Amino acid sequence: MNMYDSARMADLLRPLGYDLSSAPQGADMVILNTCHIREKASEKVFSELGRLRPLKDELQQKKGRKMILAVAGCVAQAEGEEIVKRAPYVDMVFGPQSFHRLPEMVAKAARGAGAVLDTDFPAESKFDFLPEEQASQGPSAFLAVQEGCDKFCTFCVVPYTRGAEYSRPAADVLQEARRLIASGAKEITLLGQNVNAYHGEAKGGTWSLARLIEAVAALPGIARIRYTTSHPKDMTADLIEAHRDIPQLMPYLHLPVQSGSDAVLDAMNRKHRAEDYLRIIEDLRAARPDIALSSDFIVGFPGESEKDFEATMDIVRKTLYAQAYSFKYSPRPGTPASIQDGQVGEGVKTERLARLQQLLITQQTAFNQSKLGAVLPVLFDRNGKKPGQIMGKTAYMQSLYIEGAAQELIGKILPVRVTGAYQNGLAGELCTKQDAISASMAFCSNPTAQVSA
Ligand code: SAH
Ligand code: SF4
Repeated sequence: MNMYDSARMADLLRPLGYDLSSAPQGADMVILNTCHIREKASEKVFSELGRLRPLKDELQQKKGRKMILAVAGCVAQAEGEEIVKRAPYVDMVFGPQSFHRLPEMVAKAARGAGAVLDTDFPAESKFDFLPEEQASQGPSAFLAVQEGCDKFCTFCVVPYTRGAEYSRPAADVLQEARRLIASGAKEITLLGQNVNAYHGEAKGGTWSLARLIEAVAALPGIARIRYTTSHPKDMTADLIEAHRDIPQLMPYLHLPVQSGSDAVLDAMNRKHRAEDYLRIIEDLRAARPDIALSSDFIVGFPGESEKDFEATMDIVRKTLYAQAYSFKYSPRPGTPASIQDGQVGEGVKTERLARLQQLLITQQTAFNQSKLGAVLPVLFDRNGKKPGQIMGKTAYMQSLYIEGAAQELIGKILPVRVTGAYQNGLAGELCTKQDAISASMAFCSNPTAQVSA
């Protein structure tokens, strides 16, 4: 979501004469778009500001030019006053729901009458004020369809920093999707803090996320659709069926469970039990047998006993994940869990996280290895780290690289034979016609065809 927001900020600033720069040295403006979800994120902001300050001073002293230094995003929303106090050289501080006011803020900051602070939750939706996207996001694009959250999990700052749940009208989403496709997007990831709670205004009533996905899939030129992040409570039957019925909807789902213990889930206010989650996974696999699953986990939530933690290990063993993110519980100021009894010691959190990550890495590696030798359609979307490497994504969200390929591959979906499988991704070779025939798929004549492994 922050990457999407950053792109939209760039869209707002382009008409004012700003363009993206690859480095902060000598830049007229530097915006740190921040995340507040865990403790380290906000510490990083202050250390990053400390690194930028000498660049700002140097530009002023050597060139007589002002660098407008800004902090945006959820740290700005939560700690706006604190930032202005601790880092008085910052010129603009604004939250995730008010960045459409950037042009006015820049005008004020350029005049230099102290820091501009805007952490309002305006009544108007920022989406109604954002200009059309000015730059292509490339073959794989993000599109925000929903923002904010009303779920109030007891560990989470999102409802406080991103504000109340809001769904964009379906027609606006489709309009943006058409423009993304016209500028080269083959894959669109629909974004929201709670994306499957989407309930957008549309002709003839409110649309669910499943209905929206169906409409995006009907747009000419779209090959792949994904959505993130979902909550198990909103995994409705129509959305599960969409995984069966809509070929462009990719067989991959990030569905965070956080914990496998009912007591912890209850204390987190997740509003479902471990068993409900496992049933959803079963239904998803019945709808789309090859679906790859991902989750987020928190270890060391207040009151988490060894038995609770074992229940998390157990749900991982039962689900079998293709990938996952796991974190130590981080008390966030203003959230109910941060003042709950039974805070878990750092040593215990570290030890549990290591055990969980070991299990998750084993599953992720096994998932990647299960694709060895297979022919998979890959969307090539970027250059690799080493010269001559081109990177892409399989339908299952695995990163895959090939060597010695031409730049023109970027933006194409092509069949690739998987020749290497590692913890974090795959290596492959472009498939020959013979490969495609032996995989009984007419990929080479229809490169957008999907494969079920
Ligand atoms: N809306 C999504 C999650 C968004 S936050 C959902 O409901 O699942 C992304 C992830 O950050 C969460 O899934 C959670 O695992 C992690 N997270 C959020 N707050 C945290 C905290 N206080 N400590 C540790 N991890 C946290
Ligand atoms: Fe945070 Fe997700 Fe819970 Fe909302 S549903 S409060 S975003 S963890």
